[in-house]
Amino acid sequence: MKNMLDAVAAASRGRWGGLLLAVIAVGVAVAARSLLEGLGRFYYLPMLPAVIVTALLARRAAVALAIGLSIALNLALVAREGLGDAVTNALLFAAVAWGVAELCMALRQLKDRADRLSHRLAAQDALLNTVLTTVPVVTLQLDGAVHRMNPAAAQLFCVDANAVQGRAFNSLVPAFDAASASHDDQADGVLTSTEGHWNGARADGATFPLNIQSGRVPGPDGQDLVALCLTDLSRWHAADAQARELHTQLNKVWRLNSLGEMAATLAHELNQPLSAAATYLHASQADMEKAGPLGDSARRTTELAKAQLLRAGAIIRRMRELLSLEVRRLDTERASSMIEDLGPVLSMIGSAKGVTVRMDLHAEADTVRAERIQFQQAIVNLVRNAVEAVGDTPGSDVVIVGRALSDTHYAISVEDNGPGIAADQVERMFQPMTSTKSGGMGLGLSVTRTIVESHGGRLVVAKSALGGAAFSFNLIREAVGEHP
Ligand code: ADP
Repeated sequence: MKNMLDAVAAASRGRWGGLLLAVIAVGVAVAARSLLEGLGRFYYLPMLPAVIVTALLARRAAVALAIGLSIALNLALVAREGLGDAVTNALLFAAVAWGVAELCMALRQLKDRADRLSHRLAAQDALLNTVLTTVPVVTLQLDGAVHRMNPAAAQLFCVDANAVQGRAFNSLVPAFDAASASHDDQADGVLTSTEGHWNGARADGATFPLNIQSGRVPGPDGQDLVALCLTDLSRWHAADAQARELHTQLNKVWRLNSLGEMAATLAHELNQPLSAAATYLHASQADMEKAGPLGDSARRTTELAKAQLLRAGAIIRRMRELLSLEVRRLDTERASSMIEDLGPVLSMIGSAKGVTVRMDLHAEADTVRAERIQFQQAIVNLVRNAVEAVGDTPGSDVVIVGRALSDTHYAISVEDNGPGIAADQVERMFQPMTSTKSGGMGLGLSVTRTIVESHGGRLVVAKSALGGAAFSFNLIREAVGEHP
């Protein structure tokens, strides 16, 4: 029934709906008056409800129509003694009806406003209830005793909310000074709000990091209270420690990887001159043999020099083997999770240059074969290069894209909108110790390439859709234990 009335009210607020309502209301009033005719002459009186209904439901134009129609029908249907009488009655009705209509419309506006207000209050109440059931909140008396504790706060401290009422709050948060939290310079009636970090103590003696926001609020019995809003920081601290640990691990791996890459480069570069020197010594030994006994001593010395050269070669090879950047065991990993875990490290790299590193990773079919920390190292290297390439110009964009490419491969690419790399420079950039940056070691791309190759992929660079460089490679997908 209420819904039907609401629907009629809504329809009547429209222009045509309102006019129609006025016509119907006046029609019903006229019919009612004819039915009541036997009881006496009512003139305009039965028309008044029609005007009131119209004013309660429709706009002013409809009210004017209702009044106009009422007068016209009255003049047409009710016989009058004289014209003066008829005009006076009509004017009187118009004035009274308009006054009553204005009153009704004002009442209606008041009701609408009250409805809106109660809707808003109900929504705020629902929001407040949600907050109060999920956010730990404690109210304290000004002397620091617990006034009330909501269930979320009781759960946080592992205590019974009723049992702690009246207990000193600093038995739960030892260093908390209720007096300073309740401090209030209310000269202008503004409540203070303070925030800080403390350690909370659970019933079993375990402690946990806590953030407390406090503010003075009026209490139910006229006495001010201190409201405390608590946030358990344990998870945040754990995530922070995890990010630091990953960062340290990545730094260690980076140092080892770059040493390995340098050793490989050195071995490669020194191998040729060492072999050439050994060949020359060998040739000079042949010449010395021709000199007979006279050349014996020089030949022996040359032999010793050759042995030292061979030893130097062996040392370099050994060093290379020891430091070789070799991924020994590929595990089953999820590409998206390996990259997402890097979030804090990547934001640190990005924020140094004011760049936000975005991730656009499809988590479906992303189970791959990888050595987690080496793979993460490769991503960090590519992102660091991309961030340095875009610099801190406005609109700079760096994104890591991950997509299942086929049944066998998952593609990763790190793209930016920096200057990109000229086609004729590509091969040179991958050479170890090639850098265009002052202070650059020129090892990032070569280390990354080695990591990618040890995962069975190939690191390639192309022009990115963003306008800069796009470094990409594929990982081999692992079908077993695939996550949907
Ligand atoms: P480094 O960063 O120490 O210079 P890298 O091997 O990582 O060493 O990079 C070699 C060079 O490749 C860089 O100096 C830079 O000129 C170029 N480079 C790498 N990544 C990008 C990129 N995303 N955009 C433009 N140039 C790049």
